[in-house]
Amino acid sequence: MSQRIYAAIDVGGTKLAAGLVRDDGELLRRVELPTPVRGTADEVLAALAELLDALAAEPMWAQASGVGVGSAGPLDPQRGTVSPVNIPAWRDFPLVAQITAHPAVAERSLPVELTGDASAMAAGEHWRGAARGYDQALCLVVSTGVGAGLILDGRLRTGPSGNAGHLGHISIETDGEDCPCGSLGCVETLASGPSITRWSLRQGWRPGAIPPAGSDPAEFTSHVTAADIAASAVSGNQIAIAAFERAGRALAVGIAATAALLDLQVAVIGGGVSKAGPLLFDPLRRHLKRYASLSYTQDIAVMPAACDDAGLIGAAAALAIGGTG
Ligand SMILES: [Zn+2]
Repeated sequence: MSQRIYAAIDVGGTKLAAGLVRDDGELLRRVELPTPVRGTADEVLAALAELLDALAAEPMWAQASGVGVGSAGPLDPQRGTVSPVNIPAWRDFPLVAQITAHPAVAERSLPVELTGDASAMAAGEHWRGAARGYDQALCLVVSTGVGAGLILDGRLRTGPSGNAGHLGHISIETDGEDCPCGSLGCVETLASGPSITRWSLRQGWRPGAIPPAGSDPAEFTSHVTAADIAASAVSGNQIAIAAFERAGRALAVGIAATAALLDLQVAVIGGGVSKAGPLLFDPLRRHLKRYASLSYTQDIAVMPAACDDAGLIGAAAALAIGGTG
């Protein structure tokens, strides 16, 4: 008996990936290329076309029933356009139209479904990862920014604009730091990787190595990442520990608010900053007990993301279990 197969594409600022995913969520084939971030719009598209060519050369391509596309935002799913922050050549780029026009897709008139990367991750975690079996789930991606996607009543919900779940830009400090989104005191200004680094440096944290003589200290510290702060926290640095405490608390406030609004059962945390493990999860869970005070919010589970390759599997999941809007 032949099984249904979904083609999946994951557009990120670091890599472009494509795969074939079986209808039980198993990733059967995977190919990737580095994203030509300094390339022209056509060069980025050519890299994507090369990945689609590789998938279309697989015999099981014949069973593909659609193409799920997860992309870094901002994006407009109704117009099928994307403007990924880290791919400057693509601004209002007609990604859906371009994929639809790829010969292997056009020849079979395959539907193409575009989903934001955080929503795709939520769909992937619900299908194959930590949110499996839960009807009300919030899935966060804590990395350069703080993205999130929502599973409500067992379905992925992205809203009419495709952007529902943007927890990173909920303001939790009414007189807080300016946020690139235009608001201030957003969750992202306290919990993203760059905000953890920025705050640590402001508090006087410095990298272990001594800046080479004559080097610009600002340049020296510009390469610091949240992973450096995490390593420093593990070795007992109090500023670094406090930075993760602060980030965990901000996430707890955001999750508690979402739980109160939406009667959540689980919050799943993925993204690079979540790799800090207990450094982030311990304060997050501790503060959540304090902020999630209503009876129906007190038992919310907080779990690390568990779906390998959630970007690709999620893009296929959005197509498979869909229900966008
Ligand atoms: Zn914001």
